[in-house]
Amino acid sequence: MSAAPTVVILGAGVSGLCMGIQLLKAGISSFTILEKSDRVGGTWYDNQYPGAACDVPSHFYCYSFEANPDWSRKFSGQAEIQAYLHHCAEKYRLLPHIRFASEVASASFDERAALWRIRTSNGDELTANVLVSGVGQLNRPHIPDLPGLSDFEGISFHSARWQHAHDLTGKRVAVIGNGASAIQFIPPVAKLAKQLTIFQRSANWIVPRGDYAYSERAKRVFRAFPPLLKLYRWYFYWQLEKNFFAFGGEGRIARTFEQGARGWLETAIPDPTLRAALTPDYRVGCKRILIDDDFYPALARPNVAVETSEIARITRNSIETKDGKTHPVDAIILATGFETTTFLAPMQIEGVGGKKLAEIWGPGAEANLGLCVSGFPNFFMMYGPNTNLGHNSIIFMIEAQVRYTVQCIQALAARGLRYLDVKPEVQERYNAELQRDLSHTAWAAGCKSWYKTASGKVTNNWSSFTVKYWWKTRRPKLEDFKLVS
Ligand code: NAP
Repeated sequence: MSAAPTVVILGAGVSGLCMGIQLLKAGISSFTILEKSDRVGGTWYDNQYPGAACDVPSHFYCYSFEANPDWSRKFSGQAEIQAYLHHCAEKYRLLPHIRFASEVASASFDERAALWRIRTSNGDELTANVLVSGVGQLNRPHIPDLPGLSDFEGISFHSARWQHAHDLTGKRVAVIGNGASAIQFIPPVAKLAKQLTIFQRSANWIVPRGDYAYSERAKRVFRAFPPLLKLYRWYFYWQLEKNFFAFGGEGRIARTFEQGARGWLETAIPDPTLRAALTPDYRVGCKRILIDDDFYPALARPNVAVETSEIARITRNSIETKDGKTHPVDAIILATGFETTTFLAPMQIEGVGGKKLAEIWGPGAEANLGLCVSGFPNFFMMYGPNTNLGHNSIIFMIEAQVRYTVQCIQALAARGLRYLDVKPEVQERYNAELQRDLSHTAWAAGCKSWYKTASGKVTNNWSSFTVKYWWKTRRPKLEDFKLVS
């Protein structure tokens, strides 16, 4: 291939937009972004629940090439982040490349033609030399298999599909789940609801967030001195990067987190019974450490209760728990997270010889550097297996993946290759080392989390500092690939 390869990118979220921008910067404009929604933003468009905000400081939760001096707060809200992503799409002239309302159903690699054949659920068909997934790990809501859920006759929706048309004022609201999403929307919803009951399966380690607004003066200074903005960004990077010590060992930083979380619980929750219910029984970091200032104070409201007895069944107007209690409710909000370990499902991705990605990934997804899978040539994933973080900004990882992928695409053109396919032994070696490293981390400890499969294999998280990932992905090693001309 000597002309610029054609590229199809799945998703116009943080990853897909970044990929498009960097392709344009590399002089490659032969790409299309397929987006299932009618706007850009991905997860920042999907998650419009009240109080949605990022838990990574905004000055580091943005692209390195598009600093934003105007972030309103340390942890900006969903609307501001989505507006930032829209601004990037406009500024870098990506919008003409995006096909909205185009959800991909399947993609298969035609080895003879060295082309990916992509089919959308509208029946459209596209071909491309290179397929890039930007769908990430948190895009499909997990709907729990609770007995009777479908019989419920009141209002019911998932936190990532918030139905703003339903006014929750004066309603008896049940929230199932108490993860990162739930703790953000519970405080505002508790102010409206007549009664709010949180059905908690396990407690979380929560540390104070310490949010603050940036003054107009601070924004003016950031605007006037771009290098200062860069410096500020790197300050957050290193501040977060050191937190990997909390996951990688039993060290001082893990103890600091635990003390911080216990101290915050002690201060905010005076009732010892409730405090006991909110104290996790697993090592700090095993599940995502949550940061929040408003959740515990919301629990002190007289109209808020935490129910720790397991849900037995749901009826048309109530939730019954295993301790024999019936909780009459008007609305159920499922804050039950996402289908995280199946990655690209339900899309059907077929590689060389019709091999199905979903079947290969049966025992747990794996890829080389989280980016490439052997037998699936010219296919790259952003935020793929084992690239999630518990301590730093995912945008840092995504930028590293985009850089790597653009270099691979350039190599295809420069060397006149039809495709490149990562060697199986390279992928195996990489994953053996990765799983060995992960076995020493907090994620492998005894708790259930969205980071691992039912059998306990950690398929979602990166095993080390982000510096190590950056180093490994800074340049593709072409000798790791089977190169086909
Ligand atoms: P999550 O962390 O996976 O939490 C899901 C919650 O639902 C957990 O409390 C879980 O209990 C509970 N649950 C699941 N199935 C259940 C069932 N069958 N019965 C009862 N309870 C059930 O999901 P999330 O809160 O949506 O967050 C997911 C991730 O999205 C976060 O970890 C984070 O990476 C990202 N996120 C980030 C932000 C932010 O930046 N501020 C905000 C929201 C989300 P168990 O704990 O017992 O499994």
